[in-house]
Amino acid sequence: MPKKYHIETKAAPPRFLAVGKFSTVEFREDCAGSCRQCVKKKCVYNVYKDSYQHVITMDEPEFLYICQSCFRCVQECTKGIFSPVINPEYTLMGDEYWQPEIINQTWFQAHTGRIPVSGAGYRGLFSGAGFDAMWTDMSEIVRPTRDGIHGREYISTSIELSRKPMRLIFDKEGNLPVSLPEIVEIPLPVILQPPAFGVLSQKELLAMAGAAQKLHTLMLIDAKDYSSSFTGFDGTMVPRLDAANYKEYVDIICKSRMVEMVDSSGIEREFATLRGFKPGLLISVGLPLDASAASRALELTGTGVDVLHFYAEDNGRETGSSNPRTLRDMIREIHRKLVDGKVRPTVNLLFSGGIAMAEHMAKAVICGADGVVVDIPMLIALECRLCGRCKRGESCPVDIGDIYVAWGVQRIVNLIGAWHNQLLEVMGACGIREVRRLRGEVGRALFLEDLERESFAPIFGQRKVPCG
Ligand code: SF4
Ligand code: SF4
Repeated sequence: MPKKYHIETKAAPPRFLAVGKFSTVEFREDCAGSCRQCVKKKCVYNVYKDSYQHVITMDEPEFLYICQSCFRCVQECTKGIFSPVINPEYTLMGDEYWQPEIINQTWFQAHTGRIPVSGAGYRGLFSGAGFDAMWTDMSEIVRPTRDGIHGREYISTSIELSRKPMRLIFDKEGNLPVSLPEIVEIPLPVILQPPAFGVLSQKELLAMAGAAQKLHTLMLIDAKDYSSSFTGFDGTMVPRLDAANYKEYVDIICKSRMVEMVDSSGIEREFATLRGFKPGLLISVGLPLDASAASRALELTGTGVDVLHFYAEDNGRETGSSNPRTLRDMIREIHRKLVDGKVRPTVNLLFSGGIAMAEHMAKAVICGADGVVVDIPMLIALECRLCGRCKRGESCPVDIGDIYVAWGVQRIVNLIGAWHNQLLEVMGACGIREVRRLRGEVGRALFLEDLERESFAPIFGQRKVPCG
């Protein structure tokens, strides 16, 4: 059995005071320290031990992003001096899709490498659009201990990116008359790529590349951003090229295991030239996740392409539509189209745009993706607040362009380490030991529309307003 894939995480605290959701206002006139049982010492997250800005500056309330809102301190103070309050700055972070909780929990994971917990429970909506209208079926949870999943049990999260033949045909001597493409495997269904916005300095790009290398995965990068600084990351980088410019980058192509070509009419005619530069080269085609994505995927399958990478909007929606569908529905449509066309095993599908949480990775795979491409969460791991100032040419409040590269590498590794552990939890609970078997396994998920149709419609009638 191969060695278990393990992501080494290590605490990488934030450089700036992170925007926290909760704080406690203390009415100290009632506290004389006389009970000698101060609840501050009992906080299991060491919030009051590690955060003392409010003591130094007398600047209260201090909003503590590592507070997990268990409210133990509020409930257990013998004099009842604590009152929880919500930070107004916190509620203004992000947007409708990249909500403050996502930003905050991404910071926590990048800092600690641990799975976030919510002490006060989830009190939000219980369904929404896209992935929020889908639940994983955990009914197969049979293992006795968590150590089973993270320790002794072998659960594989690796995927292959190379194309596969539909069947093997042998000649009379029992030999394979055709040469098979080289198998390229990555240990988790995640590839990294820099987001389309952000300060994106060389230091950030190097941190992202360093993390990809440490995780043994790949990182997409525009060929024009490829510089000599990336020497040493050759097997990790995937240059993004197009039909007009790729011949200018032969040296980079020859150093790479995989390249991505922007889709255009007749792009498949360039594949032979590309593999002439580097035999065995993996080729991905990047295309928009729009109304024609499924039919274009079917056309491209069988042209020798290894990977199809679909780009959704940053909010996980279809591109170029006035009524865009969700990533969840688009993945299912493309996967089904290729299954119905009997060509699904021959190509690998990756999706980017709107992959914001670990659960999105697992749910995308259940819907039919082979893997996902992570972009904005990496920026958030480097403390981005999604304030949008850089898009307007204004300064970055966390000076993100000037990070220490090693710190940035660790923050991204921590984040993906926490995501990987969450994927193991989901797979363990679903009773699936191979992420490749999770692909398209919709029997391991519950969909809001199905539940409403089968369980509620017979009683209350059909939904009149579509969900999401
Ligand atoms: S609410 Fe819980 S986690 Fe937050 S400071 Fe109080 S005891 Fe600590
Ligand atoms: S914190 Fe704001 S200015 Fe800085 S990278 Fe993020 S969105 Fe841009």
